[in-house]
Amino acid sequence: MTSYDDGNIFAKILRGEIPSLKLYEDDTAIAIMDIMPQSKGHCLVIPRAPSRNLLDADDATLAAVMPIVARLARAVRKAFAADGVQVGQFNEEPAGQTVFHLHFHVVPVYAGVPLTRHAGGSVTPAELEAQAEQIRAALG
Ligand code: AMP
Repeated sequence: MTSYDDGNIFAKILRGEIPSLKLYEDDTAIAIMDIMPQSKGHCLVIPRAPSRNLLDADDATLAAVMPIVARLARAVRKAFAADGVQVGQFNEEPAGQTVFHLHFHVVPVYAGVPLTRHAGGSVTPAELEAQAEQIRAALG
């Protein structure tokens, strides 16, 4: 398998080199808005530890990040009265991965509303910021 390359976009976001709409951060991970959301409130949980994906991640990182994923899932459900929440994670390009730093998708699902295709959503910066604010409020 290809090794980790710290030139990926999430590594740059973690280093503060490019902007993001941050929802949450601690020593383990950050959570940000996905800029091409599959639904209203789609966000990403990105562990700080460098790994391409689940296949090369260490157990301590995985154990520490799952409670944060759950916290974001509960927050998006509360923020938007979502009917469900899909949690997704892709490993290598044939499986749909496009950014090669481990991350978890937290995607609110609304009954009767199909999800936009992966990495294919479009939303204005103002809409995204408003959604981010609602999620931050729900995180408390
Ligand atoms: P994956 O295909 O699982 O690697 O997912 C990468 C996700 O990152 C996609 O859902 C993209 O919409 C999203 N994305 C790409 N660039 C950015 C960015 N600069 N900020 C936030 N999300 C991004």
